[in-house]
Amino acid sequence: MATEFPTARTAVVTGGGSPRGIGRALAHRLARGGWSVAVLDLDGAAARTVAAELEGTGVAALGVQVDVADPASVEAAAAAVERDLPPVVGLVNLAGISSPTPFLDTTPEEWDRVMAVNARGTFLVTQRFVRGMVERGLGRVVSASSVSAQRGGGTYSKVAYSASKAAIIGLTRALAREVSPLGVTVNCVAPGPVDTDIMGGPLTDERRAAMAADGMVGRVGTVDDVAALVEFLLGPDSGYVTAATYDVNGGLQIS
Ligand code: NAP
Repeated sequence: MATEFPTARTAVVTGGGSPRGIGRALAHRLARGGWSVAVLDLDGAAARTVAAELEGTGVAALGVQVDVADPASVEAAAAAVERDLPPVVGLVNLAGISSPTPFLDTTPEEWDRVMAVNARGTFLVTQRFVRGMVERGLGRVVSASSVSAQRGGGTYSKVAYSASKAAIIGLTRALAREVSPLGVTVNCVAPGPVDTDIMGGPLTDERRAAMAADGMVGRVGTVDDVAALVEFLLGPDSGYVTAATYDVNGGLQIS
């Protein structure tokens, strides 16, 4: 029998400090839905700013500095979350970096930099929080892949980023096989272009129009387009959804 979804529960959102990012929009959405929220970000001050916004709405929230690529930093952040907030039911891996470098100019250092945050970081944070989820028999993990993994770039970032986001699809599917029988669902989302700072700064009208032209909906995505989907995947009604990659791309890519 499925473990009951607790009223007091925490969602951890990595990369949640970015003022115009998907994570901040998601954190607000989750707080409105009754989640306690841990905002983890490389920029600790930004994480604490978002947490303070959430506390203003009456929920328990914590902003913590973390480098997701560093095991000791992940351990310290996770320990703080577990000390101060209710049990972690949801984990959302959004911490990520872009890389618009063409393949022939990509150095081993650039490759490792992108993989360290996007792939290794997702592995480290997920492994740390999934342990407790398995012990409690309940968890929801959602990670950010990208249309770039499916379509081979084509928006902003290039090969190293696409490869790192493809790694997240493989991680999701294989981990789901291991832990879904233990009550933990594992999914990922594959957004199309969303106007955030990861796109190399705010989109000009020209870039926005070019990115929208390839899709069916006639616009680029918003942070709430992605956050609404992730909120569903974290919630009590998504228990039969696991190992899935959800497109949220306005028809830019048909999987
Ligand atoms: P964003 O605003 O740049 O947010 C990414 C966040 O990750 C930033 O706050 C960044 O912090 C943080 N971060 C970077 N390195 C980190 C590290 N080592 N440890 C902890 N945090 C780190 O971008 P976003 O658009 O919201 O992206 C969220 C996720 O969606 C990313 O994984 C991205 O690849 C994915 N995605 C985005 C799009 C899009 O079009 N926007 C499309 C598909 C997928 P700093 O700012 O301090 O570096």
